[in-house]
Amino acid sequence: MKRPDLLLRGTAAGGELRVLGADTTALVQEARDRHRLSHTATAALGRALTGAILLGQVVDKHPRSRLTLKISGDGPLGGLVAESSNDGSVRGYTRHPEAELPLRPSDGKLDVGRLVGRGDLTVTRLLSESEPYTSSTLLVSGEIAEDLAFFLTKSEQIPSALMLGVYLEGGRVLQAGGLLLQSLPGASQETLRAAEHHLSQLGSITSQLRQRSILEIMELACGDLNLAISGQALPLHFRCRCSLERATGALTYFGADELASMIAEGGQEVVCHWCNTHYQVSPESIQRLAQERVDGGQGRWTENGPKS
Ligand SMILES: [Zn+2]
Repeated sequence: MKRPDLLLRGTAAGGELRVLGADTTALVQEARDRHRLSHTATAALGRALTGAILLGQVVDKHPRSRLTLKISGDGPLGGLVAESSNDGSVRGYTRHPEAELPLRPSDGKLDVGRLVGRGDLTVTRLLSESEPYTSSTLLVSGEIAEDLAFFLTKSEQIPSALMLGVYLEGGRVLQAGGLLLQSLPGASQETLRAAEHHLSQLGSITSQLRQRSILEIMELACGDLNLAISGQALPLHFRCRCSLERATGALTYFGADELASMIAEGGQEVVCHWCNTHYQVSPESIQRLAQERVDGGQGRWTENGPKS
């Protein structure tokens, strides 16, 4: 039976560690279907979507707060963007979804590091009651989990261990998910060593997801440090904020002549780059848009020429 995507939050060692786990199998498959991602691009974007969910949960619990993770690498993928909201929605895209590389000769795995390339990682946190906060670090390996853990430890000064994984077979995403362990103020060296030891025994997150639920994996990762789950499981979805109305609004940036030719051609297609939804904006809607511009506040021009 297919498991629904969800995020679980908890603490361990009496509050010395924060523990987050996410099963993102279905939403990574949806990202693959929507963007027609290659195998390796699915792994790259899937890890980034899962990472954005885990990092987005760290600071602010407000449902409207968001986190955007932008990876600009010089590899064939051409960069990727993932955005998560605290309500469990996530969306994202890559510049070259079709880009593909041969499997790594060393271990036969997908070569995400080379597909992403060298470059930097930028994280923007949009919190409920403050200005957006952006910080960047260089990519360590392009493998994404390592890059994000480095970012958390160096840039945000929170010692963190992060596992992200996407496993595909025959073009289907069989498992995708992630696990984040963070040291909270006052954590003892003993606790950190024990957590490191338990994590090193886990193997890959996808091989674990093949056998057990995300809750069981979190329990395993904490071992004798006693995981305590807080709150309800948060359902996760690939969900975009676009709409036909917004797609129509995007046409306001075109000039009157361009709008007129869109009307003459029977409407205009607008594609949302976040989710690859194709919207057909009707000639009537474009006509209304053009009319609003003539009538509206910026309409210093009328059919009779400039107003004085
Ligand atoms: Zn969209």
